[in-house]
Amino acid sequence: MPGDENTVSAARKSLEIEREKAKRIAIVRCDIISEVCPGVGCLDAFDRRTERFKEYGRDTKLIGFFTCGGCSGRRVFRLANTLKRYKVDAIHMSSCMLMEAPFARCPHKKEIKKSIERLGIEAVEGTHHEVGQYVGGVPFHKR
Ligand code: SF4
Repeated sequence: MPGDENTVSAARKSLEIEREKAKRIAIVRCDIISEVCPGVGCLDAFDRRTERFKEYGRDTKLIGFFTCGGCSGRRVFRLANTLKRYKVDAIHMSSCMLMEAPFARCPHKKEIKKSIERLGIEAVEGTHHEVGQYVGGVPFHKR
């Protein structure tokens, strides 16, 4: 029946609009640390919407998960540029990129952040924060 078709079509359209409104994010992480970390902490925090992901609704999509490509993180700009074509709203810099002493600091994190922002994409510091215990109990992203 035509009435039914119109209802289905309107429902589909409304679903498409909702999909388009859903926030789209990605995560970039340290290439060196990726040798020993499969990314469970970042992905679990996103899945449970905890720590730096707690503001996101269930409809938020994780559309990219990549490493910086190694020092000096030059891959980030290129991949962020690609993600822009897929309408990414924000890119999270993983906790491992932001670690402080006694871990070795990423010497390029400021430039990496700027390279994301230069594309008009929000750069969010942090994913999950258990590394905060190493900086006097203060979550690193609050420092
Ligand atoms: S640039 Fe920073 S995040 Fe990338 S590999 Fe080097 S230390 Fe790790």
